[in-house]
Amino acid sequence: MNIDLHSHSRQSDGVLSPAELAARAHANGVDWWALSDHDETSGLAEAAQAASDLGLGFIPGVEISVTFCEKTVHILGLQIDPGNRDLSAGLAAIRRSRFERAGQMADRLADCGIPNALEGALRHVDNPDLISRVHFARHLLEQEHVKSLQQAFDRYLGDGKRAFVPIQWVSLEQALGWIRAAGGKAVIAHPGRYKYTPQQHDALFQVFKDLGGQGVEVITGAHTPAQSKRYAKLAAAYGFQASRGSDFHAPGVGRVDLGAMPDLPEGLVPVWQDWI
Ligand code: AMP
Ligand code: MN
Ligand code: MN
Ligand code: MN
Repeated sequence: MNIDLHSHSRQSDGVLSPAELAARAHANGVDWWALSDHDETSGLAEAAQAASDLGLGFIPGVEISVTFCEKTVHILGLQIDPGNRDLSAGLAAIRRSRFERAGQMADRLADCGIPNALEGALRHVDNPDLISRVHFARHLLEQEHVKSLQQAFDRYLGDGKRAFVPIQWVSLEQALGWIRAAGGKAVIAHPGRYKYTPQQHDALFQVFKDLGGQGVEVITGAHTPAQSKRYAKLAAAYGFQASRGSDFHAPGVGRVDLGAMPDLPEGLVPVWQDWI
């Protein structure tokens, strides 16, 4: 079975609609698929309907932005009830803080000689409720201030760069509380990407476990084979279930397409064992 439990639509920072993503997952041979937009669940109804029409298994998901040890961590909530009030109110508050940050980022970009970047970024926003650094990056690329999306992050938008504005997301405890309230399973997304010290990295895993977190992404588009091996071992050591997701955002962008990752290594308990 091909199971891909991490992807983004244009309801957050992807470029395809939820229905287009479902069709692409199906065409790629995916059997079970999760939509997991950043801090947003508004694409899940369309995704569920499109998956059902195609005979594609569907898991409703979300990827929540969290601050831990002063850095951003992404926590997937899988098999959530998007109608849960704690979850939807919490995500709405995160989306409001994204707009505050966006105004400040536009001010920083203006200081760098790039005026009106908020208006420009908004032209790339499909969901009027969610703005991301990626929308700024698409504007900078379109206006030829940079030669690639990567360069937009390297020069202006990436952590610590000229137009970067740090954001206080929510705590691990809050995010796990909302996921629990919504009946979902919490999973640490792409753990190999966080630039923590070894002590902070251990703390993330231990605090996540103590708060009732259940899973870790072992196979993701962001991991090298060595990182997948490392996190397979850590999942077993911490007693976490293991997940597999592409983190697909857009055709031709990023590392892997929907469903196009290695299988989960043998001997791990998959996060989907109760659902599929
Ligand atoms: P935000 O959630 O608005 O802070 O934006 C983070 C998103 O930007 C991530 O989910 C990625 O999709 C994208 N991103 C982050 N860093 C980079 C980078 N260095 N190059 C390209 N895309 C990036
Ligand atoms: Mn993203
Ligand atoms: Mn992420
Ligand atoms: Mn993601």
